[in-house]
Amino acid sequence: MTIDKAEVIVTSPDRNFVTLKITTADGVTGLGDATLNGRELAVVSYLRDHVAPLLIGADERRIEDTWQFLYRSAYWRRGPVTMAAIAAVDMALWDIKGKQAGMPVYQLLGGASRTGLLAYGHASGKELPELFDSVRAHLEKGYRAIRIQTGVPGLQAIYGIASQSADTGGGDARYDHEPARRGAKPVEEDWDTRAYLNHLPGVFEAVRNEFGPDIPLLHDGHHRMTPIQAARLGKDLEPYDLFWLEDCTPAENQEALRLVRQHTTTPLAIGEIFNTVWDFKDIIRDQLIDYVRGAVTHMGGISALKKTLDYAAMYQIKSGMHGPTDISPVGMAAAMHLGLAIHNFGIQEYMQHGARTDQVFQQSFTWTNGMLHPGDAPGLGVELDVDEAGRYPYEQAYLPYNRLADGTVHDW
Ligand SMILES: [Mg+2]
Repeated sequence: MTIDKAEVIVTSPDRNFVTLKITTADGVTGLGDATLNGRELAVVSYLRDHVAPLLIGADERRIEDTWQFLYRSAYWRRGPVTMAAIAAVDMALWDIKGKQAGMPVYQLLGGASRTGLLAYGHASGKELPELFDSVRAHLEKGYRAIRIQTGVPGLQAIYGIASQSADTGGGDARYDHEPARRGAKPVEEDWDTRAYLNHLPGVFEAVRNEFGPDIPLLHDGHHRMTPIQAARLGKDLEPYDLFWLEDCTPAENQEALRLVRQHTTTPLAIGEIFNTVWDFKDIIRDQLIDYVRGAVTHMGGISALKKTLDYAAMYQIKSGMHGPTDISPVGMAAAMHLGLAIHNFGIQEYMQHGARTDQVFQQSFTWTNGMLHPGDAPGLGVELDVDEAGRYPYEQAYLPYNRLADGTVHDW
């Protein structure tokens, strides 16, 4: 009934991942995802130097108590490094509890509320024909909901566009697959909100004309608009019936969302960079959003995100958990177990990891007709091949950043 070992494993098969592996005295192991894109080693130190020594000898069955101890005893609260570290411990303890009970984690959370999880993928293209090809490729892979990102005339590099990797120094890496580029410094990109606002409604009109009215379409504004610009975009996109408009404006000033809300019925999703229920409290209570984008990995784990989503459920606000490739297979499994169990599941982001990542992390989830299911293996259903992980040492990599035409740094 005690924790014997807490090891931090860093591996970089297709990108960097940080994984916590907890082993109990009787040899049961649990995994937790602690990956913080571009700041990975800060969480490694937090876990290795400050958390792992506290876990040795603790009772692995006390998930809630361990969470509260790590959150409150640090004195310094919140923030992505702290909450990713706590999340990894929380996930690993749920994994262990599932294995001890002989049940998948979703059963411990109350059992399945649905047969599978609707997931969306990322279609992109610099020009419309390339975007259409990408949408078709996603439909062929089974996706039933698709995020649309496109190039903007006059700009070199746009968030989420696959084909731009060669001209922005990304080598042969697919940019939509992994926006963090390996190297000592972040790549600089360019941005022009006015050009974007003028271009985007026509893109959605073209996509609707080509693919019809039925497929749920999403778009990520990636924090780049002011509140009044976001309000305009939401209004301009109303004819194209978006499933959601994501991160329409930076979320530090949450009051800003009130202005956006006053002007548009386009559903809003926000919160992939949030860390705690406190970041969501006011915008859920005031019904300023429709989807909670928090990731299990960055919100303090399954325990903490479930509390946030249960609170959101009182306002008919649903989940839309963050699921890009920097959420490791362990973090994705945690999201799937949570999404299957809660009543207010909305949609799951699902980008699909590369072949090397899938070899390092053996997974038991299924992807059938556009629906994810975490599988019925006890625990989270993911095992880490330590030898395979050791073949891919950490490599420095950063997300890009933006500058406007006059050189001003802008939100990326
Ligand atoms: Mg996003």
